[in-house]
Amino acid sequence: MEAAARSCGRDPQTIALVAVSKTWPAQRVREAAAAGQRAFGENYVQEALAKMERLSDLDLEWHFVGRLQGNKAGAVAAHFDWVHSIDRLEIAQRLSRARPPERGPLEVCIEVNVSGEASKGGVAPEAAAGLARSLAALPGLRLRGLMAIPEPAADAPRASASFRRLRELRDRIAHDGYRLDTLSMGMSDDFEAAILEGATLVRVGSAIFGPRAAAARVQEQ
Ligand SMILES: *Cc1c(COP(=O)(O)O)cnc(C)c1O
Repeated sequence: MEAAARSCGRDPQTIALVAVSKTWPAQRVREAAAAGQRAFGENYVQEALAKMERLSDLDLEWHFVGRLQGNKAGAVAAHFDWVHSIDRLEIAQRLSRARPPERGPLEVCIEVNVSGEASKGGVAPEAAAGLARSLAALPGLRLRGLMAIPEPAADAPRASASFRRLRELRDRIAHDGYRLDTLSMGMSDDFEAAILEGATLVRVGSAIFGPRAAAARVQEQ
């Protein structure tokens, strides 16, 4: 991350790392925390809640990065610090209503489907500004920016083009007066490209913890 930031003249301090610990047991999260990592990403609510409970002695920041079902909104609003994958107003309203006031607003990003894949979550780029406007009015949420999971691009220029589209969209929406300081983009295979295109937060799993297929074989200590 630092090398990528320096190669394009960015301050490495302006780029956050979320370690995506989905499928890995709490003990691996504890090891990463001991090495100085504080922000962790999870996709599955039940799995995440169990880990949070085992790690409640640590001061960690939990990011929900998976697809969010309406019936899980209450648990997510109560236990997570961030949600990266808001793609419809209804889920945002549920999260806002369920957010315990004493925890302060939930930090959220709008997920944008930048590569137009039907199978992917996220709003169409044209719909992002409208959703941002509606979200800004919800008291339980604080809109921080945009997130994308572009389709794995066979070639680096295409991956970069997807990241650039997200940044340009962020710039356009911010121009309307929204303070969008977060561009959540880049994973194990493409975080350098994402940083070159302006990522302020990368979500990296397997490059930190190893291939997820191996996680099933790791026994909880
Ligand atoms: C799993 C996941 C990641 C991490 O993927 P890696 O390729 O293992 O780095 C990042 N973001 C989201 C939304 C994910 O689901």
